[in-house]
Amino acid sequence: MSNNTEPLPGTSDIWEPETLDWIELENAARDIFHRYSYSEIRTPIFERTEVFVRNLGTETDVVQKEMYTFEDRGHRSLTLRPEGTAGVIRAIAGHGLDQGDEARVFYFGPMFRGERPAAGRRRQFHQVGVEAVGSNSPWQDVEVITMLVHFLERIGVKGGKVNINTRGLPEDRAAVSAALKEYFAPHAHEMCEDCQRRLDTNVWRMLDCKNETCKAIAEKAPIIVDLLGPESRDYFDKVCQGLKETGVDFQFEPRLVRGLDYYIHTVFEVTHSGLGAQDALAGGGRYRITFPGSKNAIEGIGFAAGMERLLLARESLGIKAQPRREADVIVLCLGENAIVPGIKLTDGIRKEFSDLRVKADFTGRSMKAQMRGANKVGARLAVILGENELDQGVALCRDMTSTEQTAVPLTQLFDFIRKMTF
Ligand code: AMP
Repeated sequence: MSNNTEPLPGTSDIWEPETLDWIELENAARDIFHRYSYSEIRTPIFERTEVFVRNLGTETDVVQKEMYTFEDRGHRSLTLRPEGTAGVIRAIAGHGLDQGDEARVFYFGPMFRGERPAAGRRRQFHQVGVEAVGSNSPWQDVEVITMLVHFLERIGVKGGKVNINTRGLPEDRAAVSAALKEYFAPHAHEMCEDCQRRLDTNVWRMLDCKNETCKAIAEKAPIIVDLLGPESRDYFDKVCQGLKETGVDFQFEPRLVRGLDYYIHTVFEVTHSGLGAQDALAGGGRYRITFPGSKNAIEGIGFAAGMERLLLARESLGIKAQPRREADVIVLCLGENAIVPGIKLTDGIRKEFSDLRVKADFTGRSMKAQMRGANKVGARLAVILGENELDQGVALCRDMTSTEQTAVPLTQLFDFIRKMTF
């Protein structure tokens, strides 16, 4: 029987110092995305199920096998968000985006997919993502991909491989699907069960199946971009040209299609060799989404990167936050009468020194036990307040490194602290 203090499979508790890495990543993302004039949005972690089903498509793995869907007390079907785009677009559609308006947003947050847990594959994982909505220009795609690469550079993730491809416009789809069907049909019986089904339901997905046999067959499949009309091809050429201008090192990956139905034109993915089998660091693409009730389809481009995987990639490069000192200063209150003055003093130090971590020991334990506690938290300075010190209006300041002790008048305590190096 599993221990019921353990988090559920595929979920984790995250502790310091790991949380420091998360904060660093979030701050770096905010900084970079703000500089590109994107603003932060926070949407609910659950939505009406149809928000995902309509937009991701019924033939996707996420919708078919992975969603955490439940009925609430009002008998509505709700789903914990498996990805960020559908909710963000729902929010933007609800807010009203007039023709010609643009919205550029980024988000962080937990996503939920009922997948088989493995290294780098969680049931609750976290994404940082962006959406640039309202522009249908290839230069917008260039900006978004460039921004992702800029972000990866900023957080020290070197060695990511940027793969890009195009799915073209919806009007080109029938020709591509027909050519792919013609190619795959004679091979289908050798392919995995999923691919056999995909031949009729979603033949594009046969291009990026992870099964080795299917992969070998897909190697020789027709190339999507060769089957597209001139408008789609011109769009893709512009994206490639722009990426060269902004210095993004990318590769054309003709079998990249990405799982979700809403993609048009550009799709891209960043992989990293430090991740092992689950090597996708980030993925995205251009989409066209229609919401019931909204006049026009909403077009945009976005990406999402897995926070856990960004952290794993950084770790593989030796970047990891060091545990930090739990307290720089600790105030030891010796005896019942010292507790209230001790709390007041602690509060005063915190308000005076914004960059110090200050802790009070008001347990009433013996001096020996409190000193042990001071060592344990790694304090640089212990400020000892006992009955005698209170009577004399002083605090006994113990330099925890040199063990030197000085009786400092309370009126001069801040000056004393100011002179110390922490
Ligand atoms: P997707 O929405 O599937 O394209 O995912 C975008 C990014 O989220 C991927 O490139 C991964 O970095 C991350 N990701 C997706 N699924 C998981 C998962 N189950 N566990 C951890 N990270 C994930």
